[in-house]
Amino acid sequence: MSKKRIAILGSTGSIGTQALEVIEANPDVFSVEVLTAQNNADLLIEQAVKFAPKVVVIGNALLADKVTAALASFPITVYSGNSALVSVVESDSIDIVLTAMVGYAGLLPTIHAIKAGKNIALANKETLVVAGELITNLARENNVSIYPVDSEHSAIYQCLVGEEKNPVEKIILTASGGPFRGKDRAFLAAVTKQQALKHPNWSMGAKITIDSATLMNKGLEVIEAKWLFDLSASQIDVIVHPQSIIHSMVQFEDGSIKAQMGLPDMKLPIQYALHYPYRLKSSFPRFDFTAYPSLTFEKPDLDTFRNLAIAYEALERGGNAACTVNAANEIAVEAFLQDRIGFLEISDVIIACIAKIAYIENPAYLDYVETNEATRRFALEMIQVKV
Ligand code: NAD
Ligand code: MG
Repeated sequence: MSKKRIAILGSTGSIGTQALEVIEANPDVFSVEVLTAQNNADLLIEQAVKFAPKVVVIGNALLADKVTAALASFPITVYSGNSALVSVVESDSIDIVLTAMVGYAGLLPTIHAIKAGKNIALANKETLVVAGELITNLARENNVSIYPVDSEHSAIYQCLVGEEKNPVEKIILTASGGPFRGKDRAFLAAVTKQQALKHPNWSMGAKITIDSATLMNKGLEVIEAKWLFDLSASQIDVIVHPQSIIHSMVQFEDGSIKAQMGLPDMKLPIQYALHYPYRLKSSFPRFDFTAYPSLTFEKPDLDTFRNLAIAYEALERGGNAACTVNAANEIAVEAFLQDRIGFLEISDVIIACIAKIAYIENPAYLDYVETNEATRRFALEMIQVKV
């Protein structure tokens, strides 16, 4: 079998580096065709030397000369800037595109990859949150598969194998609850970014780690699940499961529930998405039931962690509502990471943006672009007034 040629968008991040570990462990199965990163030129150069892709792209054009010079003696083409980040996915020699960049920036490259007929291993959940309808329609029209990398969605995908004839009654997304599980608003009012960045079970990029602390990550995942599995909001439950062993569940119409389990390790869903429908042998540590005598479950606290309720409302509302929520959240999380707003103000910013930004029932691509920009502008203004 010929090797699967992979483009990794965002290769220097948490998902990107773990994807390269998977590729390194399976050199007969995968080859690296394209690597892209925004700012981490040193790691991108190191990865390029090690994995010998045909093309690398550095998003930040100010770093182009550095990357070009470092790779001059290798048969690697270096591009830079935003347009290269988008068009590089169209190359004939790519079999699958892993979208491992963070935030709204994932949308346009994913659209281009789908239009070029590339299957997508989707880590960048923001793409489906912002424009799930547009993306799933495009994928259908271009006969492209979207394989989820997010561990919860991979779990559901795995549970659905062989169940094509059986409708789903509901899915149950598990949430760790993050570092502030069980805390009240008085506590949250004073938490620092250092506290919020300490996730109990997963080591991830800064943005998704803050989203996990606010439960926005679970909210984004509810919306992601709607589009991946064609469900209504009422078919998507969230349950807090602090051990992160059950990665999510599917309940069928006879009441039977299937769960996918294992120790938390993103390399498993990454390699499942890259090599679907085949499972690759791995040396990952195995789960030992006796080491976890109790797996526990609790209801999420939607009054304290308002972002999860906000995401459900956006899903019910449809149109450009989730695009607004996503843009407001990206700005608010960044501001929290810069110590410009407090933890609870993240939700305040998002709620104010929903009230302010015009609702569009049937948005086209340019409406999403406009919604994203208008929301960011307004959120930034709000934050500046506060400081
Ligand atoms: P990260 O911050 O560790 O890495 C982000 C990567 O994207 C870096 O390579 C960076 O260079 C690149 N990037 C940043 N801004 C960019 C831009 N404007 N244009 C192009 N590239 C840009 O993030 P991460 O934790 O690896 O998360 C990546 C995506 O995967 C996110 O959408 C996240 O929600 C999702 N995800 C991550 C995990 C995880 O365990 N880390 C789990 C599930 C889903
Ligand atoms: Mg997840």
